[in-house]
Amino acid sequence: DARVDLGVRVTPLNDDLVVVLVEDRTQARRIEETRRDFVVNVSHELKTPVGGLRLLAEAVEDAADDAEAVARFAGRMKTETVRLANLVQEIVDLSRLQGADTVAAAKPVDLGECAVRATEETRLLAESRNIEVLLRADEESHVVLGDENLLTTAIRNLVSNAVNYSPADTRISVVVTTDDDDVAVQVTDQGIGLSAADVERIFERFYRVDPARSRQTGGTGLGLAIVKHVCANHGGRIRVWSEPGVGSTFEMQFPCWSAEREHHLADPDAPL
Ligand code: ADP
Repeated sequence: DARVDLGVRVTPLNDDLVVVLVEDRTQARRIEETRRDFVVNVSHELKTPVGGLRLLAEAVEDAADDAEAVARFAGRMKTETVRLANLVQEIVDLSRLQGADTVAAAKPVDLGECAVRATEETRLLAESRNIEVLLRADEESHVVLGDENLLTTAIRNLVSNAVNYSPADTRISVVVTTDDDDVAVQVTDQGIGLSAADVERIFERFYRVDPARSRQTGGTGLGLAIVKHVCANHGGRIRVWSEPGVGSTFEMQFPCWSAEREHHLADPDAPL
């Protein structure tokens, strides 16, 4: 979108002079459009589980005399409620991340430990499809400056996607390494893979290659948008290699942190 919005304000200073203020409103307009699109998408996405809950509540009413059916519908209501709660949580996380360029109260965080937590949290999901998740780390320091919960969430989103978009009985590897000045986390699966055109779009909010599959796995379509913003807010980046039918690798990279370096930043004459 190459359109440029200019705001012009003219204020007379005296009989001979006027002040002309020209303001570039392009950025403000883009932010406003993004916000409006988000609200439209969010209301659309919320309608699905809310509509589902209403239908299930009606079904419970109609089946009042059939205890077995009531129990079945109640179970499905519980599932829908969990999905709704996840969606609301992710919407809140994402809007917080979008509203900031950095993370508040960043601390030194060991990405290796985040990876352990993230794989632990996805273990039941992986086991339910007999998918093995292997975690490896090199001997270097994996400390970055950031928010431990957000970094763990980003890794967990990549690992749970790897599970959800892979056939049963396959393998996922999570590798944490430090290279030069960066710590990298790579998640590789033997899953369905992505076309180049889809790789371009998967970080957009609510974009799903196969909406039915995403819904079946309880996906919200926000996982990768959150990953993208966590990377951006930590001064990092994300890259993807993928081949349909073969598998995918998602790699996040963050600048590594060391006590010596922080000391050096605070006092540039101190030895690095
Ligand atoms: P969802 O909740 O739908 O998983 P995400 O934002 O996490 O949302 O991912 C967006 C879409 O990207 C998914 O719906 C899926 O089509 C695709 N995708 C994500 N990770 C993978 C992967 N590891 N392999 C294949 N496709 C993937």
